[in-house]
Amino acid sequence: MDLTYKKQNVYAVADKAELKRIFDYSEGYKKFLDGGKTEREAVSYTVKMVEAEGYKPYTLGNKINKGDKLYYNNRGKALFILRAGKADLAQNGVRILVAHIDSPRLDLKQVPLYEKADMAYLKTHYYGGIKKYQWLTIPLALHGAIVLKNGKSLFVNIGEDEADPVFYITDLLPHLSQELNRKTIGEGFEAENLNILVGGIPLDGETKDAVKKGVLTILHEKYGIVEEDFLSAELQAVPAVKARDVGLDRSFIAGYGHDDSVCAYPEITATLQTETDQTVLTILADKEEIGSEGNTGMQCVIIDDLLNELAKSYGVNPAVLRAASKCISADVTAAYDPDFASAFEESNVGLVNHGVTMNKFTGARGKSGSNDASAEFIGYLRGVFAKDNVIWQTGELGRVDLGGGGTVAKYIAKINIDTVDMGVPVLSMHAPYELIGKADLYSAHKAFSAFVK
Ligand code: MN
Ligand code: MN
Repeated sequence: MDLTYKKQNVYAVADKAELKRIFDYSEGYKKFLDGGKTEREAVSYTVKMVEAEGYKPYTLGNKINKGDKLYYNNRGKALFILRAGKADLAQNGVRILVAHIDSPRLDLKQVPLYEKADMAYLKTHYYGGIKKYQWLTIPLALHGAIVLKNGKSLFVNIGEDEADPVFYITDLLPHLSQELNRKTIGEGFEAENLNILVGGIPLDGETKDAVKKGVLTILHEKYGIVEEDFLSAELQAVPAVKARDVGLDRSFIAGYGHDDSVCAYPEITATLQTETDQTVLTILADKEEIGSEGNTGMQCVIIDDLLNELAKSYGVNPAVLRAASKCISADVTAAYDPDFASAFEESNVGLVNHGVTMNKFTGARGKSGSNDASAEFIGYLRGVFAKDNVIWQTGELGRVDLGGGGTVAKYIAKINIDTVDMGVPVLSMHAPYELIGKADLYSAHKAFSAFVK
């Protein structure tokens, strides 16, 4: 009898049929990843997916009936997908899956456009945790919305189509980098230098700011906007790259925004494809990368409002409903990287292609700021996953006292719901082009499906 515990490589145990399921599943994911690079686009993409399965928009205050398939679109930036089940809510509560759909990027400032040395640039203010140097010399696309004074919204997406131009942030040539090379990475690349090149042709007959005026003329012709319209715009520069298979055996996927689309997508497929009597609430949240603030982030009371509507509709005490509910907070974790081995503790880190990874706790230093799920809830989930042959593992973000991070888990736990972090391990997390293993993506789908069953 072998009494030892060992992590399993998903590929090592998968038969031919399972291998095909893993690879087929990843094709849909790559489309989702490229189609939803910002929270607005991820919401639009997902609304199409759920409407195709018969889900209808929900209006706050309306009664929810058993068997209803609904979605609540919170301001176009966050989405709540609700399957109202037959099971007793006082007994079973709600199965909640939550992931976020915002990713680190460069947001434009409100007065972004200026000209220097006959080149026009857009000023940016970075969003989320980035290593600034990674955003230089890569193709960038502009996504987002411009809301006009009359309330009309214009949606912008330039740089994704092969025929589109892209945008660019310059770097200093190595020949002249002796001074730069002596600085730390933190000091050498300043946020105020993350300026995006957008034009170089001066407008005819202009002497001052002629290139800037040339860019404004193009924007006016394309969108009918003037410079002042940037004041009420949310424009985001994201990498103009498509998700691609990586490796001769195609076992990995590189893409922008795996954090946290790689958890959002399996949440959605688990919710749409699983036969269940449970009530399932699947949340795609905004603003996780900047602390889950605001009325589209997970700290907003809208989740309580929706659970209260459910309780009222089913005639259940909302406190009883919440106490009986369970949540997987689906967010990515760091995958062990042998090239940066000292950042990790090998036994307690997600290994790529060894399955979706549970983080009992996140946080920094002495677990500070962490939800720290109970052994009882993890024991329950072990049973759930074992029944459906889910290969999964546990991990911590990295070596103790090296850094840390947080997720939305604590905001769900705060309203008296058992919650644990679980997600796909990512290599090069928060880089413009992140890497995941296909086996882990599919393992997340299997784990979340087992959870909502
Ligand atoms: Mn995340
Ligand atoms: Mn993140």
